[in-house]
Amino acid sequence: MRTTVGIIGAGPAGLLLARLLHNAGVDAVVLEGRDRSYVERRQRAGILEQGTTDVLRAAGAGERMDREGLRHDGIELRFAGRRHRVDFPALTGGRSVTVYAQTEVCKDLIALQLKEGGPLLFEAEALAVEGADTDRPRIRFRHEGAEEVLECDYVVGCDGFRGVSRQAVPASLSRVFERTYPFGWLGILADVPPSHDELVYARHDRGFALLSMRSTSVSRLYLQVPAGTDAGSWSDEEIWDELELRLETADDWVLRRGPITQKSVTPMRSFVHEPMRYGRLFLAGDAAHIVPPTGAKGLNLAVGDVVTLARALTHERRTGSADLLDAYSATCLRRVWQAERFSYDMTALLHRAPGATPFEDRLQLARLERLTASRAAETDLAEAYTGFPFG
Ligand SMILES: Cc1cc2nc3c(=O)[nH]c(=O)nc-3n(C[C@H](O)[C@H](O)[C@H](O)COP(=O)(O)OP(=O)(O)OC[C@H]3O[C@@H](n4cnc5c(N)ncnc54)[C@H](O)[C@@H]3O)c2cc1C
Repeated sequence: MRTTVGIIGAGPAGLLLARLLHNAGVDAVVLEGRDRSYVERRQRAGILEQGTTDVLRAAGAGERMDREGLRHDGIELRFAGRRHRVDFPALTGGRSVTVYAQTEVCKDLIALQLKEGGPLLFEAEALAVEGADTDRPRIRFRHEGAEEVLECDYVVGCDGFRGVSRQAVPASLSRVFERTYPFGWLGILADVPPSHDELVYARHDRGFALLSMRSTSVSRLYLQVPAGTDAGSWSDEEIWDELELRLETADDWVLRRGPITQKSVTPMRSFVHEPMRYGRLFLAGDAAHIVPPTGAKGLNLAVGDVVTLARALTHERRTGSADLLDAYSATCLRRVWQAERFSYDMTALLHRAPGATPFEDRLQLARLERLTASRAAETDLAEAYTGFPFG
């Protein structure tokens, strides 16, 4: 089997890259290790920056998002029983974000790829990338019980944090920057309309809580829990009681409860692999970098990477110039590090570290006070949350 661009992974990065290349007339094959229903059901991101929605729309994948996505013009910060709204359009010259689940982005892109695009093979697990530093890189993969080889001009590793593509970069050329956090997020999906019409980020002495949503009838809520917590160790009632405590306000706001349909714990990590390119292998999305979910940046970074890469690959095909491909890693890393910084700052601002001292608690509250009192501080948050420009 042979193609121009071999893409490993059908998450948002791999699927959108395939769509952008298809639109530009560049051949690609996507290999996905899991089956279609697994990919379409995996609950993860939900907040799309304005740049991301613009890209999906321009790629012809925005129709259902425009119909069903919820435009959000702000978030609420909650601390010490107080509520403070950050108004995005007022602070950023009109920018907003859209609530539209990653599952739905993937469903839309898979449907388009299968209808109009090149091959997308499910249950095709990449085993290794070979010859990345040659003119003929290959992906060795297993499909329907047999081992096969996909020969390519370029290979793109969109296979997430645990994929195989990063391993093809020699250790002597890799630099890894990493931080793990002593806490994670216990996330639930519940069949109940959201208790607030925008996301609520709450700092509480008992730990962080986030109220978010998937639609007007489905709520998505999170609690900070110690790293390694088993989701099954929390009963539904304990989760609702804890959410109620951490989201409490001094006014008459109430948390609506409903049946919990899914429960899981997500570990929190910051991770960057440099460079994002080795020879003819390019890394994109979670394969190259991870952010803690507090800043809602992971999926949006993946989109930024593949937009930059699709432009560079198309440019090379049309002009023969590799300038943009050569600049890919540095271009993406500038945006990646801004997202790392913001995600780290939001995490530190809102989570209670185990063993935090009263002094650190007061500093956290002082930072939140500053955000509510200074338009400059609030603008900094609003600009980062609604998204950094694509490179
Ligand atoms: C709880 C949670 C909440 C989040 N919230 C947000 C948010 O609000 N906003 C946001 O922007 N981001 C958020 N994120 C992050 C976001 O979900 C990820 O950054 C995003 O999924 C990255 O997309 P990707 O395509 O790079 O990787 P993935 O989505 O991980 O896709 C990688 C794909 O590669 C496949 N694969 C792996 N190995 C192989 C192999 N060997 N062969 C073939 N296929 C392989 C996998 O099966 C998978 O389908 C959240 C994440 C979590 C866990």
